[in-house]
Amino acid sequence: MIIVVLGPPGSGKGTRARLIGQMCQVPLIVMGDILRDAVSEGSEEGKRAKGYMERGELVPDDLVIGLLEEKLRRLNLKRGFVLDGFPRNLKQAEALDHILRDEGADIDLVLNVVVKDDVIVERLSLRRSCPHCGAIYHLKDKPPLKDEICDECGSRLIQRSDDREDVIRHRIMVYYKETKPVLDRYIKMGKVVEISGELMIDKIPDELKKILHERRLFPVDKLTIK
Ligand SMILES: [Zn+2]
Repeated sequence: MIIVVLGPPGSGKGTRARLIGQMCQVPLIVMGDILRDAVSEGSEEGKRAKGYMERGELVPDDLVIGLLEEKLRRLNLKRGFVLDGFPRNLKQAEALDHILRDEGADIDLVLNVVVKDDVIVERLSLRRSCPHCGAIYHLKDKPPLKDEICDECGSRLIQRSDDREDVIRHRIMVYYKETKPVLDRYIKMGKVVEISGELMIDKIPDELKKILHERRLFPVDKLTIK
């Protein structure tokens, strides 16, 4: 089974993709991780990608597609996988179809995580991170014990520029603009199931199980959690 999880930044799509990977015991492929790994390995592609990332620009499609293809070719695609952070635009979606078709595989399900913009803004704009040890806090859901101070190392917490409201709203807008055609394409193919990104966290596993069962991707008794 091959599942693609789509959703704007801050929608909780990463959490859901990880859960599906665990429940169905298939590899989770996160595009952001592939990029970061390529950069830290210092490969040719990694060096190219690093330049774009440091300038705050989007990494070009050919580079992203090449890295994903390399990763997928090393997997047994028949066993399936969960994909998070790809495809971001139509060109990437078409490339994914090509790679899968070459291997006789196809996407079984596209989960589209839907969240109101204001909810995303609240989630992300209240995030604080520690510049020293990298710990992440949330002023409402996971506040530090002492105001604005890291529990782990005592450093003063910062708000990353990515988490400022104006930047968040811009990221959301860019996401929808790029990904709308991808979603339309998958809707036409009958692959999309919409889920709310505003569900309480302990309700998420059951919702995912139900969808997987309804789509006959896995019998419920075969699903394992934790
Ligand atoms: Zn810290």
